Amino acid sequence: MKILLNNNDLNEALYGVSNLGFVPTMGSLHKGHVSLIKKSLKECKKTIVSIFVNPTQFNNKKDYLRYPRNNKSDLYILKKLGVSFVFIPNKKNVYNFKRKYKIKLKKKDKILCAKFRKGHFEGVIDVMDRLTGLIKPKKIFMGEKDFQQILLVKKFVEKKYHSKIISCKTIRDKNKLALSSRNLLLNKTALNIASKLSKDIIAFKEKIKKEKNVNKILRIKEKELKKNFNISIEYFDLRNKNNLKKSKNTKNSKIFIAYYLDKIRLIDNF
Ligand code: AMP
Repeated sequence: MKILLNNNDLNEALYGVSNLGFVPTMGSLHKGHVSLIKKSLKECKKTIVSIFVNPTQFNNKKDYLRYPRNNKSDLYILKKLGVSFVFIPNKKNVYNFKRKYKIKLKKKDKILCAKFRKGHFEGVIDVMDRLTGLIKPKKIFMGEKDFQQILLVKKFVEKKYHSKIISCKTIRDKNKLALSSRNLLLNKTALNIASKLSKDIIAFKEKIKKEKNVNKILRIKEKELKKNFNISIEYFDLRNKNNLKKSKNTKNSKIFIAYYLDKIRLIDNF
């Protein structure tokens, strides 16, 4: 496994490499990341994983600073998996040119996380543009855990590059909690609450399957979740999987939630 710490290392190592799979991450790797990497290893000849906690996608400096960083254990995991390259750039490597145009979201896309985390997806698209431009992979593997992210990145990246975005299922622990690096910031009690909440929403979705119009039921459920789990909720919506428009029933739709538990912001979709 080659560890690439700057763009020169990267260019040298990737010279002549085709059929390259790319898994972008912010590190603190867990089984969710591992599932993406395994898919890349299976579908592509070589796999590169990036570890970069991208400052521009954090709308809150404190959140950026306390984001977990575990490069040592990450490298151990990646080596064991048989990854060919790990790219661990610094800010200067990634932000090595000033872009000619500003990345702006369309009004219709300013929903869910885009509404509550100002500038977040602009930062994500910016970094994905830069990393894809540097790496030029055949395929990029991303998780459905960040569903809105995949749709927005796919629209931008596939239009500009030859790379194809491959979306991968959300990996959950045995208690149905979606794995996330941010879970490391939660104590045992909070983890327990988050698991119960996941199970509750999974059961709720099953229950509303036959309803024709869930608008009212959703709002009642939102209030119930706030009260029962002592959380603040940013959004709790049923939306179409393809265009993220609000849905009245569960056909082709997912429940999207963002909430704060112990001051930690968590997102999921079911
Ligand atoms: P992150 O390091 O959180 O930026 O995530 C890097 C990639 O891993 C993104 O494409 C995420 O959607 C994906 N990912 C994060 N958590 C999970 C999970 N539980 N299951 C599947 N993919 C995930």
